[in-house]
Amino acid sequence: MSIQAIVLLGAPGAGKGTMAEAIRGATAFIHVSTGDMLREAINAGTPVGREAEVFMRQGALVPDEVILKIVMARLEQGGPDALYMFDGFPRTLEQARLMDAEFTRRGAKLSHVFLLDVSRAVSLERLGGRRICRRCGANFHVRNIPPKKAGICDNCGGELSQRPDDSRATILKRLEVFQQQTAGLVAYYEKRGLLQRVDSSGPRDETVADIMKRLQ
Ligand code: AMP
Repeated sequence: MSIQAIVLLGAPGAGKGTMAEAIRGATAFIHVSTGDMLREAINAGTPVGREAEVFMRQGALVPDEVILKIVMARLEQGGPDALYMFDGFPRTLEQARLMDAEFTRRGAKLSHVFLLDVSRAVSLERLGGRRICRRCGANFHVRNIPPKKAGICDNCGGELSQRPDDSRATILKRLEVFQQQTAGLVAYYEKRGLLQRVDSSGPRDETVADIMKRLQ
């Protein structure tokens, strides 16, 4: 056996994190979200967190070398037979190429790249209404996944808030950054026969079932 991995690719609001959580619960995949790792670094006040925060607040991408460093460190922790599910990585061609080189070096295999397809309108609606529990990190949405009591987490009673980069202006910037810097990865993985398009605009469980079927 060797390391195996899948990638969840998609615009902000496409549901990468939501899908990753569901797939993780039903499989042995280790969920690697570079966004979550960066937010943890910011909360912990590490040098990586301090560097990343400036970019994240603007909706810009964090430099490739910072991202590669944290991803490589993560690969060291999973062991030689780990199954990884990357969420939000790679986001640039340079990240994809370096990931390929590293996988070749380790004899690791990338088996699927799922492109979660949604319209711009769906992305805007999902991100604009997203609310996160400050205490346990659970995700809600003011209309689609409303908490029982407004502003309060169903799981732990913590306070719900918006992610700092979910303001209207930053959402628009992140969507633009996706088109400019990440959308090119679709052709990159299509050429290599790895890309699978998944309609991610419907109910969560339908999209999860679609991905699980393709993974079997
Ligand atoms: P996410 O949680 O995936 O929406 O990511 C939130 C923010 O973290 C992004 O807008 C970027 O600023 C940063 N980020 C996450 N993953 C990457 C990556 N692979 N490359 C560059 N920046 C990233």
